[in-house]
Amino acid sequence: FYVTDALTVGQAFTLPDSTFRHAVQVLRLNVGEPLILFNGEGGEYAAQMHNVSKRSASVLIEAFAEIDTESPLQLTLVQAIIKPDKMDFALQKAVELGVATFQPLVTQRSVARIGKEKVDKKMQHWEGIMVAACEQSGRTRMPQLNAPLELDDWLEQPFEGTRLILAPGDFPRINSLPLDLPTPVALLIGPEGGFSDAEVASCVQAGVTPVSLGPRILRAETASITALALLQHHYGD
Ligand code: SAM
Repeated sequence: FYVTDALTVGQAFTLPDSTFRHAVQVLRLNVGEPLILFNGEGGEYAAQMHNVSKRSASVLIEAFAEIDTESPLQLTLVQAIIKPDKMDFALQKAVELGVATFQPLVTQRSVARIGKEKVDKKMQHWEGIMVAACEQSGRTRMPQLNAPLELDDWLEQPFEGTRLILAPGDFPRINSLPLDLPTPVALLIGPEGGFSDAEVASCVQAGVTPVSLGPRILRAETASITALALLQHHYGD
């Protein structure tokens, strides 16, 4: 279970409401049963249910184990905003595939738009997906979630390493990148309608390398899973 609090071995810790609901009301954990907590900073805390009432529960934190499931490749997925269910899916899979940072991107052809007043709510929703994906995949470090940016604003940000834009067409295959690729790596994926030619041109002008995944056009979420898996295979873990 993910909690945001600092934890200490020996501490009796009151579960936050959402964790209480999940642990006690959904999974029916009772006094004496073991559970694992993590706070996104690396490592897992073994704990035992201590006190359980109808409205709250506390656990006793018994041990800490440094568990590192992170990839040595610092990978940023710069995902153009796509339809909400597809975006959720892409984010969930990106976390499972070990991205260190998730950057939502506003592009010319983004069909799905997020009004300024809805950004905070959307970020909270995406955070929930990241937490669940970390819990499921055993990641003990929480990836970074950035607020959505326009492409031009993202391009202006300094980035040491390699920036790649996935675009169908006559570009080198992602598999043909050199083995000594400078890292970290940022990977841009377009929306349902793809990047416009002007967007690809501005990326190239800014030093972003265009790469292809081959002759078939994949849905954005398929493209992101495929490219992330290939990059982890070649440069990460
Ligand atoms: N007609 C659009 C185009 O030509 O860009 C298709 C967009 S595709 C559904 C969504 C995104 O997935 C693209 O913007 C690109 O980032 C990525 N993508 C899909 N298939 C790809 C391929 N074969 N090579 C490189 N990128 C691909």
